[in-house]
Amino acid sequence: MTMRALVTGGAGFIGSHLIDRLVARGDHVVVLDNLSSGHLSFIQEHLDNGNATLVQADITQFDEVMVAMKGIDCVYHLAANPDIRLGTRITDTDLKQGTLATYNIVEAMRLNNVGTIAFASSSVVYGEDAPLPTPESHGPCMPISLYGASKQAGEGLISSWVGTFGIKAYIFRFANIIGTRGTHGVIFDFIHKLKKDPSRLEVLGNGLQEKSYMEVGDCADAILHVMSCSNDSLNLYNLGSHDTASVRRIAEIVVETTGCHDANIEYTGGDRGWAGDIPRAMLGIEKMLSTGFDVRYNSEEAIRHTALALIEEIGLNTEMNS
Ligand code: NAD
Repeated sequence: MTMRALVTGGAGFIGSHLIDRLVARGDHVVVLDNLSSGHLSFIQEHLDNGNATLVQADITQFDEVMVAMKGIDCVYHLAANPDIRLGTRITDTDLKQGTLATYNIVEAMRLNNVGTIAFASSSVVYGEDAPLPTPESHGPCMPISLYGASKQAGEGLISSWVGTFGIKAYIFRFANIIGTRGTHGVIFDFIHKLKKDPSRLEVLGNGLQEKSYMEVGDCADAILHVMSCSNDSLNLYNLGSHDTASVRRIAEIVVETTGCHDANIEYTGGDRGWAGDIPRAMLGIEKMLSTGFDVRYNSEEAIRHTALALIEEIGLNTEMNS
C-alpha cells in the first residue's frame, strides 16, 4: 500500500531533498508550504509527475493544517522560520511559527488519527554550556536563542502527544545542514557578499566559531534510515558529522572556490556572530552511528561541496570573474 507522507516545509532546502527520497521509495507526498522561503522549482518535477501534491498554506492556520492532514500516514514537520538571527529583532516569530504551529500539527494529527511524526529540531536546544561533543542524554537543555526555545517547546509538545495520545515520534536535532538548494546560512551569505563586492568579505564575529556541518543528502538519508530501524515510541537522535570547521576556514574555502583570491577577509570581532549565536557546537553522533548509518561527507568536505554547488546554482563564477 502506498504510504501518504505530509512534509511541512517540503518546498524548502532540507524538505525538498527529503521528498526526493520519499518519492523514490514510492511514497505519495503532500507538501504543506507557504513558499515564504521555499521554492516550487525544488519540487516541480514531483508535482508534474503526480508523485507529490502541493497544499500552499500556512502552518499557523489550524484549519489549513487540518485540510492537509486528511488521509496522511506520517508527518515530517520541517516548516519553521529558518533564520535564528531574526529573533534578535522580532520576538514572536519563533513562538508563532515554531511553538504554536507545532501545536497545530500534533493536534491535527490527533484529530485525523495520524500515528507518526518526524520533527526537525536543532543542536541549538543544547545551549552554550553543553559538553562537546554533546550527547542526546545531555540536560538540562537551556537554549539561548528564541529559535532554540521554539525547537525545545516543539520537542516538548511532541513528547507530550506521545505520552498522552500514543503517537510515535522521531525528534532529530540537526547540526548545521548545508548543500545544494541552500537558501540561507553562512556559505550562502559569504557567496552573496562576494558577489556584491569581490574585494572584501565581512565575517560576523572573530571567525573562531567552530561548528559541525552535515551535507543535506546525508541528513535526509539519516532521517529515513533511523526511522526504518528505530522503533521506540519516542526516538531522539542527533544528526551531524564527525568533526567541526571554523568560520575562518569556511571564509577561506569560499574565497578560494569563488576565485575571489584578492578578497580581504574582515572580521567584525567578538566571539559570536550575533546575540544568541552559539560559538562552539558539536553533536555526539554515536547513537546515529549505532544504527549502521554513517555520513558521506565530513564538515570541510561538505563545505567545499556546498560552495561549489551554490556558486554553480547561483551562476556566480562567470559574473564574478568577468
Ligand atoms: P527552509 O527555509 O529552506 O525550509 C523551511 C520551509 O518551510 C520553506 O519551504 C518555507 O517556505 C516553509 N515555511 C516557513 N514557514 C512556514 C509556515 N508558517 N507555513 C508553511 N510553510 C512555512 O529551511 P531548512 O534549512 O530546509 O529548514 C528546515 C527545518 O530544519 C526547519 O525547521 C529548521 O528550523 C530545521 N533546521 C535546519 C537547520 C539547517 O542548518 N538548515 C539546522 C537545524 C534545524
